[in-house]
Amino acid sequence: MANTYASPGWTRRDVLGMLGMGAAAAVLPAVLFAAPPVFPKGAVIRTLLKDYPPEELAGGATLFHEHMSSPPDFLQRFRRYTEETRAANGLPPLPPATIVPPPPGPYFMQDLDLMVDELSVAKREGIGCIVDGGHPDMGQDINFLRQVSLKSGLPIVAGAGFYTQPFYPKEIGAMSEEQIAQALVKQVESDQAGVFGEIGSWDEITRDERKVFRAIGRAHRATNLSIFTHTGIPGKSALEQLDILEDAGVDPRRVAIGHLGNLVDPLVQVHKAICRRGAFVGFDRQGGPGDAQQVPLVMALLEAGFADNLLFSSDFANAALLKRNNPAMGYAKTLTVFVPKLKAAGVNDDVLRQITVDNPRRFLAFVPKKPRR
Ligand SMILES: [Zn+2]
Repeated sequence: MANTYASPGWTRRDVLGMLGMGAAAAVLPAVLFAAPPVFPKGAVIRTLLKDYPPEELAGGATLFHEHMSSPPDFLQRFRRYTEETRAANGLPPLPPATIVPPPPGPYFMQDLDLMVDELSVAKREGIGCIVDGGHPDMGQDINFLRQVSLKSGLPIVAGAGFYTQPFYPKEIGAMSEEQIAQALVKQVESDQAGVFGEIGSWDEITRDERKVFRAIGRAHRATNLSIFTHTGIPGKSALEQLDILEDAGVDPRRVAIGHLGNLVDPLVQVHKAICRRGAFVGFDRQGGPGDAQQVPLVMALLEAGFADNLLFSSDFANAALLKRNNPAMGYAKTLTVFVPKLKAAGVNDDVLRQITVDNPRRFLAFVPKKPRR
């Protein structure tokens, strides 16, 4: 659509600033913000099956942080470490049903036919591309993901990296930053990974986690892949993650700090600090009972002019939320469950399209340092 008011290259925030607008930002007419994103020359989005010019994936939403491949015990381990960390932080235990054990039979993330069905539905519901935020230390199976993508027709971007302290392979402690960076580049090349993520700190960031973050910075400089993170106990170490990556030479515009929907602060102070530095803020556990708390956070960031810095996804991991088990849910729930709540709160379609379709493509698009193998 023609953009009558803004010169190409102006961000929505620039326009709002010039207009002296704050509170009305979220409901401004669509015509102001219709300019499609401009990608660097030679930029691609690297999926498991092929590299796409980012423009080619404009037909649907891109989910920047999901999981389609992990072993059955992953969630049990996740829950056990979470309980230990919450107790150590003086927080109450999680409600009992937060993570339900998988039903008997093949685990859904190892059941090819089931996963193909689920992603085919997600595609019909408007998803154009999806990122798997796993990697080897989380039990990600690249060949499984490749099959799922091939059979469902949904482009899948594979993550690469090391996850968090409790999940690191034992060798990490003894490896140098450079050795870790080399291992990361090797993963990227052998798996055709298209992004680093999820890269995390479990609680207060540890020595090893700092080392991994610095190694990610090096591996980013070697590959040019963007980075999305996992933050533990609500928002903890979020700013520090960005500090370490910036100090390692990463442009904040190539970083998404994750799980910040968990940080329920009506003043959105950490969120805003991250946006101001140019990075993305991940609302990436969307499409469920937690949404109600998060709609006001998103509204506050839109009102502050940060639509360019938001990314939505659902961090899918729970069999109970599959389409097969709950027809109101499924892999597209960010789009089918969460986005309507924002629309009801007054966010216009153009802004919602920008956040769900354009922002994740801007985030993922990169200019490869080497041609695809
Ligand atoms: Zn995740």
